[in-house]
Amino acid sequence: MSGNGLIAPGATIGILGGGQLGRMIALAAAPMGYRCHIFCPERDSPAAQVSAVTTVAAYDDRAALAHFANSVDVITWEFENIPAATVEFLEALKPVRPNGRALRVSQNRLEEKNFLNDVGVPTTAYAGAASAASLEAAVRHIGMPCLVKTVTEGYDGKGQIRVDATTNLANAWERLKAREAIVERMVDFDMECSVIVARGTDGTCVAFTPGENYHANGILDTTLVPARMPEAKLQQAEAIGRHVAEKLELVGLLCVELFVTKDGRLLANEIAPRPHNSGHWSIDACMTSQFEQLVRAICGLPLGSVERLANAEMKNLIGEEVAQWRKAITDPVAKVHLYGKTEIRAGRKMGHITRVLPLNNGRSS
Ligand code: AMP
Repeated sequence: MSGNGLIAPGATIGILGGGQLGRMIALAAAPMGYRCHIFCPERDSPAAQVSAVTTVAAYDDRAALAHFANSVDVITWEFENIPAATVEFLEALKPVRPNGRALRVSQNRLEEKNFLNDVGVPTTAYAGAASAASLEAAVRHIGMPCLVKTVTEGYDGKGQIRVDATTNLANAWERLKAREAIVERMVDFDMECSVIVARGTDGTCVAFTPGENYHANGILDTTLVPARMPEAKLQQAEAIGRHVAEKLELVGLLCVELFVTKDGRLLANEIAPRPHNSGHWSIDACMTSQFEQLVRAICGLPLGSVERLANAEMKNLIGEEVAQWRKAITDPVAKVHLYGKTEIRAGRKMGHITRVLPLNNGRSS
């Protein structure tokens, strides 16, 4: 690394995690002249298949982590459930971007909602619970229907229970198998959307056009870009994204998932300090993809343009849906992305398809 913090092409980017996000970071880094070194516990991971070097080791293997840190120039991660202690250990050895604080906040739903409200970003009403008795008190306080979620390690709708008057709360607490839970008031939303922002080492911050998200079984199914909402609302979502990134002093990428309520408010649901599934459209329909933007940000390069070149519809291929690639490959406006996962499992993200659409409906870029 040179004096001004620039990590120039030719350097090696270390990535914690071997999933599809790591794969797409590595695929964006390659044309810019960077190598990637993946650190993950699994063999033949989607990211390892397209990277120069892989270390297969556990996240608490200090010797392997030290060796990894010594062989890379900057470190990032591609999924949130990296132990905080791993990141702390690495931070003492090499620049880790984004910073560990962003990771810690995103790993804990209570801390996340406290942080968002502290920095003036509204969320739904929520309360913490650490026992069956306190769950009952929290549900009474928040009102029904509500959602009870594990505070840590929940994603893609896992670790969530919907609670209404018919729910036996003692059973619900048992089923959750968590030490700590968060009770959230159910949001009556018109739409779910997300905004992805990139922030550079010099504090420059840019937002991608927000997308409109549809979930199936708690997993993202489809993203439409731009989200079909008024320009002022799109700008409000972008401003929220930039504000949260600035407050976290984040260098890299941040996604903020939002609810648009029936009465037109934006409420933050959660944040992810990494590339996000709802930003995959940017590979095929944006001047700079979210993955290239991450590489630029963490290497101290100027950020790229977030100009949208087309509208887009991104469809995830979950489990057996991966077979849809056969039809999509014949569609002249579709780009097929498959993640190299050999085993098809229900709920597993196997790939995605982005349909590149004319830039004529909704926001002009
Ligand atoms: P999460 O794991 O928090 O991202 O939740 C997964 C999905 O569950 C979200 O994208 C929403 O569709 C739904 N969801 C989560 N929290 C709430 C809430 N408080 N009110 C209504 N729907 C929610």
